[in-house]
Amino acid sequence: MGNQKRHEIDRNTQVIRVNKMNPERTHIESAAQLLRKGGVIAFPTETVYGLGANGLHEPAIKKIYLAKKRPHDNPLILHIGYKKDIELYARDVSAATKKLIRAFWPGPLTVVVKKRKKIPDAVTGGLDTVALRMPDNIIALALIRTSGVPIAAPSANVSGKPSPTTAAHVYNDMYGKIELILDGGRADVGLESTIVDCSVDPPVLLRPGKITRRQIEQVIGVIENDVMKNGSLFHKPKSPGLKYRHYAPDARLILVESEPPAIKSTINALLRQYRTQKKRIGILAFFPGHKYHLRKNELLVNLGMSTYRASRKLFETLRYFDAQKVDIILAESFPLSDHAIMNRLRKAASEIIIANNKDGPLL
Ligand code: AMP
Ligand code: MG
Repeated sequence: MGNQKRHEIDRNTQVIRVNKMNPERTHIESAAQLLRKGGVIAFPTETVYGLGANGLHEPAIKKIYLAKKRPHDNPLILHIGYKKDIELYARDVSAATKKLIRAFWPGPLTVVVKKRKKIPDAVTGGLDTVALRMPDNIIALALIRTSGVPIAAPSANVSGKPSPTTAAHVYNDMYGKIELILDGGRADVGLESTIVDCSVDPPVLLRPGKITRRQIEQVIGVIENDVMKNGSLFHKPKSPGLKYRHYAPDARLILVESEPPAIKSTINALLRQYRTQKKRIGILAFFPGHKYHLRKNELLVNLGMSTYRASRKLFETLRYFDAQKVDIILAESFPLSDHAIMNRLRKAASEIIIANNKDGPLL
């Protein structure tokens, strides 16, 4: 009987709407209860939705990998409820790390630090370091504090897909695989956290996010940047997760990088080319002045040049194109070439075309 009941829960994923300013105690309590029992649930954070489990309980963590189909050497971020809790899970925390925490927590910054023994290998992929973050989301903080455990939580998408920024995205990817989704509305940032490896000196930027390298350097001085190197075939990634293709829609995404006029003419040329192949095309644009002459079956989303809005809507737009059964996404590059938006687009792209400004499109 007990077994049968658990099975039932497994097949039906419950979605509970939670007030994001003042989360209902009963909802938080029942979610925390599931976590304490070794369950996996999805919850909102300010970056993207997370797929959470008790970060000290190996069998629960394994369920996250299973639900996401995530490679086992791709470690998870532990989410904690108080700044001071870093001492419970990390050792030899440097002065620079403490400064970063003071400046940016709660917030979209993850620090990689030397781990304490109690953290299971399943969280860290066997590494001697652990990634920690205190999210800036009232529901997430209430959940962590109420459950009384750190919550291991990668993004709540199937591995490789665009991260979910709404509960509906999570539902699409995770229905039948997890017991509960807490719906706290649209994620405010829309991109995953910035990750800084603070276990080395100087610290190293592993993944860009809303908190920029410049902001970090204003607090702790010059850091190294591993983001570009991590894209290279010849470089052993410092962070295992960085070697995988990520954030990718089902459609083939072609990213066109250049100055605005060359981007526009190259995308127009690609548009003509794929039209003749009868492909359904979606254009992802950022430049407000760029008008494309589309046919009935073709889609255009222009996210504009505001980093706030474009970040917030990027993954949602990739998922929208997939839902519309687009075959090819032609993406303009974002005007700031080292912004986190470009990092995500480059990783999502099947092909990157560097358009030549002077000679027109290189096709
Ligand atoms: P996600 O939660 O899906 O955004 O992925 C978390 C990412 O954090 C992983 O893909 C890794 O790149 C990174 N990460 C987690 N733990 C570590 C660690 N100990 N050292 C380096 N990077 C880490
Ligand atoms: Mg992820």
